[in-house]
Amino acid sequence: LRKLVVVTGASSGLGRECTRELVNSGKYFVIMAVRDVEKGKAVAKKFNFPENSYTVMKLELASLQSVRDFVANLKAFKSARPLTHLVCNAAVYLPKDPKPSWSDDGYEMSMAVNHLGHFLLVNLLLDDMKKAKGARCVIVGSITGNSNTVGGGLVYPRADLGKLKGMEQGGKQPIAMMDGKNYDGAKAYKDSKVMNMMTVSELHRRYHKSTGITFASMYPGCIAETQLFREKRQWFRKIFPLFMKYVTGGYVGEQEAGQRLAQVVDDPICSKSGVYWSWNGGAQTVGRYDKSGKPKGAGGSGGEIFENQQSDAVQDRETAMKMFDLSYDLAGIS
Ligand code: NDP
Repeated sequence: LRKLVVVTGASSGLGRECTRELVNSGKYFVIMAVRDVEKGKAVAKKFNFPENSYTVMKLELASLQSVRDFVANLKAFKSARPLTHLVCNAAVYLPKDPKPSWSDDGYEMSMAVNHLGHFLLVNLLLDDMKKAKGARCVIVGSITGNSNTVGGGLVYPRADLGKLKGMEQGGKQPIAMMDGKNYDGAKAYKDSKVMNMMTVSELHRRYHKSTGITFASMYPGCIAETQLFREKRQWFRKIFPLFMKYVTGGYVGEQEAGQRLAQVVDDPICSKSGVYWSWNGGAQTVGRYDKSGKPKGAGGSGGEIFENQQSDAVQDRETAMKMFDLSYDLAGIS
């Protein structure tokens, strides 16, 4: 029997490529959790996914009700069979918007989609997943939360959750930033990725022992060609992949990035919980070339998986605990 895996954002970029990899392995039945069901179906058709290897289900992460509906539909669909894997991958990046946009529930969009919707999803599925043997929950992170890398530290604005003042005040419109400061779309994305990674660490600390579920985050490398950068100008979208390839060495192609995410789902090495997985050839602050003068990791090929060190911001336990507890309130989990 194939293992059951939910992949959010399976209709594009990293999520689509990971889905392809899992379907092609023949070991997984993928529930493609997407905001646009027609688009999801078109992807499955284009890549010739066999009928018995996937289904497409509606999940609008910008609506907590939609997350609840998705979980109800999922449970009805799979009946008593437990979910073995959950991949929280979907995200939005809104660096150009001068004003915040709001989710159905009145939360700033990138925090709502990237963090809060997934936070609710994971929490609603924990009881089910703990029944499965070898269950894994992966939340896609990013180096943008790391202050010790080019992408995370030197490129402003930096992720900074501060004292979570905005979250403490309920985090709803007109409060756009979780630190309570003024809206900054690029920072809201980075903050949400830090929250994603903190969530994994907290899930591990709170639930790994009691549920047996493996919790992991990962940084796939810079997939400079995905739709994530749709708000960026055309020149940026041309130059950025080249910059990542030849200057920082952090570039990775969509397909290989999908293989990396699928590895965290499937590889026995990745059964360890609480890990932030990365691949060498990823973001670098020093030494862009190896000893032979070859650019390190250019093209992202052949990167070796390793347990990466999380940034100080992500490792701030006090803030992580507070963020996690406040997220229960914001997501309406009693
Ligand atoms: P894409 O924009 O290609 O994919 C994002 C996916 O999220 C899409 O499938 C999109 O749906 C879905 N999505 C967006 N909003 C919602 C919503 N409201 N409800 C449900 N689904 C939604 O970007 P990537 O593939 O690059 O990003 C995937 C993950 O990788 C993200 O978590 C991102 O933070 C992370 N990442 C990406 C990096 C990169 O360099 N690209 C680097 C580090 C991390 P639709 O198909 O309908 O647009």
